[in-house]
Amino acid sequence: MPPVPPSSTTEPASIAQEVTRLAASPEVISAIEWFRDQEPEFTRWQLELARIPAPPFGEAARSDWLAERFRALGLVKVHKDSIGNVCGSMPGNSPATIAVSAHLDTVFPATTPLNIRRQGRKLFGPGISDNASGVTALLATAAAFANFNLPHAASLLFIGNVGEEGEGDLRGMRHIFSDPNWRDVIHASVVLDGAGTDTIVSEALGSRRFEVTVRGPGGHSWSDFGTSNPIVVLARAIQIFSQTRVSSSPKTTFNVGVIRGGTSVNSIPESASMRVDVRSSSVAEIERLEFELRRALEQALHEESMRTSGDRNSHRVELNSELVVIGDRPGGELDSNARILQIARAVDNHLGNHAQIQRASTDANVPISMGREAIAIGAGGSGGGAHTLQEWFDTTGRDIALERILLILLCLTGATK
Ligand SMILES: [Zn+2]
Repeated sequence: MPPVPPSSTTEPASIAQEVTRLAASPEVISAIEWFRDQEPEFTRWQLELARIPAPPFGEAARSDWLAERFRALGLVKVHKDSIGNVCGSMPGNSPATIAVSAHLDTVFPATTPLNIRRQGRKLFGPGISDNASGVTALLATAAAFANFNLPHAASLLFIGNVGEEGEGDLRGMRHIFSDPNWRDVIHASVVLDGAGTDTIVSEALGSRRFEVTVRGPGGHSWSDFGTSNPIVVLARAIQIFSQTRVSSSPKTTFNVGVIRGGTSVNSIPESASMRVDVRSSSVAEIERLEFELRRALEQALHEESMRTSGDRNSHRVELNSELVVIGDRPGGELDSNARILQIARAVDNHLGNHAQIQRASTDANVPISMGREAIAIGAGGSGGGAHTLQEWFDTTGRDIALERILLILLCLTGATK
């Protein structure tokens, strides 16, 4: 485990001075003017990218598109890793690395018609904002560093990652942070996800999802009466588990969202299953709820065995159960004095931008849960209808977000004069 940079060795006042100094440097002023002039090109990138299907586990074509652009910008060591993340670096002169990433995947199946179109400054179509806008901002930022020779002591690692949405379960980011070559050098991460400039996600909402299946011998409702019944076991387990107390701070929730089982009204079911979702920003709370769920299931199985084995005419008890984790997003919270948060706030003050701290489930969950400095912020403009076919993105004000991202990165990398 590499040393995490101390959180608050730099006074907020000196961070504010550093932001002011950076923003006034000629290279940065040129880059910011360029952001304004380049909007037509950024719009083209965003439309082009959104037209490439990227369902969960099907991001390859987008990875190729981004790798090609990374190479064209002159990023070094551009490559696709074994699961499809695209990485490109801009080496600095210190061993530390600052990662900036945007997820490539969408929630839409490969068969979704991608009717991507533009009316003035408004762009429409599935995935246009989440996360074609994030990938566009990633590219625009990389281009600014490349074109204006912006100073950075730490290296910059630009990542277009796979697997953020739904069943992707953050696999792209997990892969990056399980690779010692990256894990041990990335000191801070900035995740670009969706539109806007009004939030800083520094609280990682964790979730764990389970599929619980109970199986029994099944049988005829009349002739096999008394045989253990998986649906009854699940019902008992739900009844027990739903009485679990949860904390309101950190907010912790659970939900039994799907229940399936049985064949017909006159059959004792052979199996029954349920899907359970548990959420909290505290890993300990998620662990505790998982423990309670397992305990509820054990108790329900035991009670059902007792009930049926007490009956002399019953078949032998042949119940078994399985609890499979079908999703696991680690949670956590960034220290309120974390340097990355102080920098983001100082940049927002400088820009007169009002942003709220938010709790959400993003790629930043992975580093935050490991005690690393990370935030997720928007790629500017405005957007709506995320995860629907009516998704839209308005490019107005994108340049402010790009300036914000650039200043945060310059400050994080410890730009030298
Ligand atoms: Zn997203």
